[in-house]
Amino acid sequence: MVLVYLIKDTRPLKNKVIIKQVSIGSLQVHTYLVVCPQTKKGVIIDPAGDEDKILSLIRDEDAHIEYILNTHGHADHVLGNSKLKDILSVPVCMHEADVLFFSDNKVNEQSAKELGLPPPDPADKILKDGETLEVGSLGIEVIHTPGHTPGSVCFLVNGNLFTGDTLFVGAVGRTDLTGGNLDTLLESLEKRVIVLPKDTAIWPGHDYGETPTSTIGREIKENPYITDFILSS
Ligand SMILES: [Zn+2]
Ligand SMILES: [Zn+2]
Repeated sequence: MVLVYLIKDTRPLKNKVIIKQVSIGSLQVHTYLVVCPQTKKGVIIDPAGDEDKILSLIRDEDAHIEYILNTHGHADHVLGNSKLKDILSVPVCMHEADVLFFSDNKVNEQSAKELGLPPPDPADKILKDGETLEVGSLGIEVIHTPGHTPGSVCFLVNGNLFTGDTLFVGAVGRTDLTGGNLDTLLESLEKRVIVLPKDTAIWPGHDYGETPTSTIGREIKENPYITDFILSS
């Protein structure tokens, strides 16, 4: 299923963004195409394989991809990195902490056992917390949200937060995998995510919730990891 969202409202033209969400594979990983409507420059977030489908999304939108962004280094989110990188000739970007983490052979052995998939190739561009990638008129802000993995990030684009496995609709990503830590994830949510405006749209890394997207406001009300572990403490 491919959902197409063109955020149209009364905000100025510069705040509009085209977002396409597609669920890929048995793990229902959400891959995103995010495009600046004026310049058609864009990014792919977490290419989870099925590269032909992703390429057809790009063609349909007549988009010029500038970066492949990974919310984290888990194999299911990076499966399409190398093929798309070869075809599109763009850099793969990952947070510095996951680049370091997944450069450790023991981590990769353990992670391969857990996920049954090969580890990520090294990234071409290292992302740091607080940096903003300029893509056409879009600013894509990198927010480091460790916990699911040490280098997990969320990407904030004009009121849209791509949360990877840090925050799902009604849940959070696993913290029992190597490098995961629930306390760290909850701290990331408390200090970096739920402080964002309540109407910020949530675009999660898997299609595991009742709906494919949510908002910060709804998650603050309904997500038990936020209501029970953060707000009640
Ligand atoms: Zn993950
Ligand atoms: Zn995942």
